[in-house]
This record gives sequence, structure tokens and C-alpha cells, in this order.
Amino acid sequence: MHRLSEDVFQIPVVPRDGVNAFLVGDVLVDAGTRFSAKKILGELTGHPVSAHVITHAHVDHAGGTRQVTAALDVPVWVGELDAADVESGHPVAPAHNPLPTALSNAVGAFPSAHVDRRLVEGDEVGPGFVVLVTPGHSNGHISLWRESDRTLICGDVINTMNLITTKPGLQEPPKLFTTDPARNRESIRRIAALEPQLTLAGHGPPVHGPEALRAFAASLPVD
Ligand SMILES: [Zn+2]
Repeated sequence: MHRLSEDVFQIPVVPRDGVNAFLVGDVLVDAGTRFSAKKILGELTGHPVSAHVITHAHVDHAGGTRQVTAALDVPVWVGELDAADVESGHPVAPAHNPLPTALSNAVGAFPSAHVDRRLVEGDEVGPGFVVLVTPGHSNGHISLWRESDRTLICGDVINTMNLITTKPGLQEPPKLFTTDPARNRESIRRIAALEPQLTLAGHGPPVHGPEALRAFAASLPVD
């Protein structure tokens, strides 16, 4: 577990920051895949946890949720429009995904979990963070923003690495797994406008300062 500031920790679930979870205060954000629970629980040893937030209902963020929250006995909080997918464990693949429906749905399935709280814009979470609804990658995708030190946890609104080569750099998330890429670009422009000092994504290393995000957002096509 890497300490990024007084109360913000990165939990790299796989090497090279390929999949990240975060601990903010006593709130665990995301839980990797179904194979990540043991690693996350080990990293959390000695850190109190009171709740678990999921940025979006995908297999690499909510996959470990059921096992982690059962072990810690903490509630599950997720954006209201992704709650049904967490509770079913069967998110429906984007319509433009060319894989056979049965295959893509099977690949995306994860252990379902009961949702205790459906988060909406402006909800307060952890030490000073507020919920931003940042749809596009999934319909109910949320980010967490703390104005006081300009810290942003943005899930998969952006990837901060190339998922194939692992080379750091800002990217749109893969279109295949993004429900509405144009809407996600609106969310990218929204988070860039916040001018975060620290941007923490689900895939890739932390990004320091607002410049890279601002330039990346400006480079995107306007739909
Ligand atoms: Zn992801």
C-alpha cells in the first residue's frame, strides 16, 4: 500500500499499477477482481475500514467486493445507476461490443453483492470527499473529489496507462467496455476542469498536477 497523502493510500492490486484500489480515511474505494480480495485484505491489515465505495460496476472494480465486504463486515456504496449491476453481478456489455453477447456477458460477470447505499451527486464520502456523477464508461460511474487538496479518484473515466503496453500516459478507457464513449468524454472534460493536483485512476499510476489532464481533455474530439 502506497501512502499518497495523509489519509489517501493506493492499493495496487496487480503489478505496474495495472489495477488499483484506494483507501481514503476509512473508506475502501474499489476492490479489483474476484482474485484480488486476499491481497486487498492483507494490505488493509491494521487500517480500520467502515465502508466500501465502488466507482462502477465492472468486473475489475467490483469483482472483489463481495468477499472483501463479507470479511470486513462493511456496507457497499455505489452510484445509483450502477447499483442494479452490482446486485446482479451481470453488467450488460455495451451495444457496440462485437463479441458474442453470451461471451462478453460471461467475461464481465462477477460475484454479486448487496448494495447498502445508492450514491448521488454531492453525497459526502470519507474524509471530505464528495461524489461526482461521471457517466459514460458505465451509466452510473462515479468519481470522488476533495476540493481542499484537489484530490480526485476517477475510476475509469480515464486510464493513466496504456492497458496493453502498461506505458504511463492518459488514455480514454477502451471503447469495447465503455457504454457511451462520447458521454465519457464529457466526463473527462468535467474532471479536467476541476484542475486536480492528484488524479487517481483505476488503471495506471497517480498523476500529479492538472496540466496533463487539461491537455488531454483539450485534445479530445467534441461530439
Ligand atoms: Zn477498469
